[in-house]
Amino acid sequence: MPALVHQFFCRSDNYGVLIHDPASGATAAIDAPEAAAVEKALTETGWTLTDIFVTHRHIDHIEGIPALVAAHHPRITAPEKARAEVPGAAAYVGEGDTVRLGTLSARVWDTPGHCRDHIAYYFSEDKILFAGDTLFALGCGRVSESTYDEMWASLSRMAALPGDTIVYCGHEYTVSNAKFALHVDPDNAALQKRAREVEALRAKGAATLPTTIALELATNPFLRAGGGKRFAELREAKNRF
Ligand code: ZN
Ligand code: FE
Repeated sequence: MPALVHQFFCRSDNYGVLIHDPASGATAAIDAPEAAAVEKALTETGWTLTDIFVTHRHIDHIEGIPALVAAHHPRITAPEKARAEVPGAAAYVGEGDTVRLGTLSARVWDTPGHCRDHIAYYFSEDKILFAGDTLFALGCGRVSESTYDEMWASLSRMAALPGDTIVYCGHEYTVSNAKFALHVDPDNAALQKRAREVEALRAKGAATLPTTIALELATNPFLRAGGGKRFAELREAKNRF
């Protein structure tokens, strides 16, 4: 049975996501930005939290863990490289590991760039990627503790997934990303169209995510930049924009 996914807003601009396996009833939260928002999502869906899959150790992705553990006793899966900062996980994972959620399974990728411990979860059978703060709609995460080449390697690996892969990201940054994207790629008709669409979605408070790899390849300036110096320059220009 295919996975079901429920996405919701939390904090100021974070996304929370629940992924549910109908066959077993297992449900994972991808990160735990805010316990109350996750609780509300569980109530709305009627799902029972069995797992939390952490993408990286930043506080806006883990702050809800203690309260959710107290309430539901989920199994925590966290990056091996964040062992010190995310204590008490049942599993610490990295490149090549497989994570199971009932009958669903995800490959773990090390995706350093945004931070040294960042990992992504790729449910290949369902063609769903949880990209955390690595790839965003029309943008990518800030680079820290890592090199631009490492970030590019993480992004280009995501870019090589099938075009119809559905991508969930850690934040709703799409309107501001669209402004920068149009600034550096003004003649891209697909980008112009998408920028209008995301403005309209946000004007009514709707989500601009999830996205797809094909859509990002057509419109995301960072994926279109190629690697090397050009990518580093573009990411630094975005920091100043
Ligand atoms: Zn982060
Ligand atoms: Fe974040």
